[in-house]
Amino acid sequence: MSTHPMISRSAQRAAPTVVRTGAAPVRGVTRAASIAVAPKPAPPFRLASRQYHPESTIVRAGGISIGAGLTVIAGPCSIESRKQILETARCVKAAGANMLRGGAYKPRTSPYDFQGLGAKALDWLADAGERTGMPVVTEVLSQEDVARVAEHADLIQVGARNMQNYALLRELARAKKPVLLKRGPSATIAEWLLAAEYLLAGGNPNVVLCERGIRTFETATRNTLDLAGVALVKQLSHLPVIVDPSHATGMRALVPAASRAAIAVGADGLLIEVHPRPDEAWSDGAQSLDPEAFAALIGELRAWPVRAGAIA
Ligand code: PEP
Ligand code: MN
Repeated sequence: MSTHPMISRSAQRAAPTVVRTGAAPVRGVTRAASIAVAPKPAPPFRLASRQYHPESTIVRAGGISIGAGLTVIAGPCSIESRKQILETARCVKAAGANMLRGGAYKPRTSPYDFQGLGAKALDWLADAGERTGMPVVTEVLSQEDVARVAEHADLIQVGARNMQNYALLRELARAKKPVLLKRGPSATIAEWLLAAEYLLAGGNPNVVLCERGIRTFETATRNTLDLAGVALVKQLSHLPVIVDPSHATGMRALVPAASRAAIAVGADGLLIEVHPRPDEAWSDGAQSLDPEAFAALIGELRAWPVRAGAIA
């Protein structure tokens, strides 16, 4: 029997925890009787836990129901021009994407790398989303930009590097817009769910989790996609979980396999970087699919027998 400290009784579908009472066996009392049933300790992420909320949550963002079927979010890492985001939007929409992504504020490891085009890119993103009939997802980096990003985005991304930026999380809790909370590269599952708890406890129930790979000893892939972690979080929490196979692998050739794996372990959706000409992308070109590869992947996933029909 599992005695995982974070798994609720309902999630495990197992018998309740048993603990030894510690009392010395008394003559005539059987061994079984010296075992008592103890209540399971409450997980620290109370509001995110399935223990108190057994039904899976569906988060509605711009008319899309995340957590009901499989949601496909696609678009470029960075918004580079009005033309580039509109061209990408048309391609991903035609291939079957449900939501459009694009970065206006970019969290870059080096301060010398392209940092995003900022406010004007938000306008271009919102416009491309409107013209193609897709709600939009974009990242916010700092508290000062929350109001502006909330005006344009249907789902606000908290990047991996900001998962534990508690001031930002508190501001997003007040903003009430749906949030896509990426897992920090070195965050444990408990830390990730506690970050979600900041949003929930602050009054924003619209939280979507996103596994985007974690840092391990392995450097052959950009990150290590924690597939078992996705399966576990689906048991521990009622919140929808999206997988980002692009940042998880760093290589476009691995995106299809990682996408299939994500669906197989129960992910509620995928976040995939797509660029009209990946070799010319201003960021993350190596992990971006071109429109043809994206369309081929979605076609394959639609017909894939494991959870066939998951993509509407
Ligand atoms: C991104 O989505 O482009 C991004 C920067 O992601 P992450 O925060 O997961 O690195
Ligand atoms: Mn990126």
